Amino acid sequence: MFERFRPDQVAPKLEDVDLGNLQKKGVRGIICDIDNTLLPWDQEIPEEGVREWVAEAKKLNFKVVLLSNAMPKRARSLSKQLKIPAKAQAVKPRRKGFKGALKEMELEAREVAVVGDQLFTDIWGGNRMGMYTILVSPLAEKEFFSTKILRFFEIKIKKKLGIIS
Ligand SMILES: [Mg+2]
Repeated sequence: MFERFRPDQVAPKLEDVDLGNLQKKGVRGIICDIDNTLLPWDQEIPEEGVREWVAEAKKLNFKVVLLSNAMPKRARSLSKQLKIPAKAQAVKPRRKGFKGALKEMELEAREVAVVGDQLFTDIWGGNRMGMYTILVSPLAEKEFFSTKILRFFEIKIKKKLGIIS
C-alpha cells in the first residue's frame, strides 16, 4: 500500500539531480514542484544553483514546466525569473495538472520526470501518471500548517520505504 509513494530516485536537492543521467533514461521533460523544491517556502528568489540547474536543463533541450499547488502569483513570479512555463493550483496528486503539463511539453508521461519534495503530491501524482519520480529533501523547515501535518505521516512512510532511517 505504500509502494505508490515510492520515488524512482532520491536526491538531497534539485542540483543533485544528474541531468545527463535523466537523458540516458530517455527523459525529455521535467516537471518541477515549486515550494521547498525550487524555492524555500518563504522566499521568492531562487538560489544561484537552482538557476544554473534549470539553465543546464534547457541547454540539454529538456522541456521544463513548473507545477505547483500554490497560488498563481507565486508560480508566475518564478516562471518569469526562470523563463519556463508554470501551472499553479494544480491540486497534485490529481492527474489533471500533470496532464496539462504534458500538453504544454508535448510529451508522453513515460518521457517525463517529476521532481518534488512531497510524497503525497509530487511523488504519488507522478507515479500514478507513470512518470519517473524524484524525491528531494524539503528546502526549508518552515511550511504551511497543512503541509506540516502531512509531513508527520510522510516521515512514517519514508521510514517504511527505507528512504530515511
Ligand atoms: Mg513542495
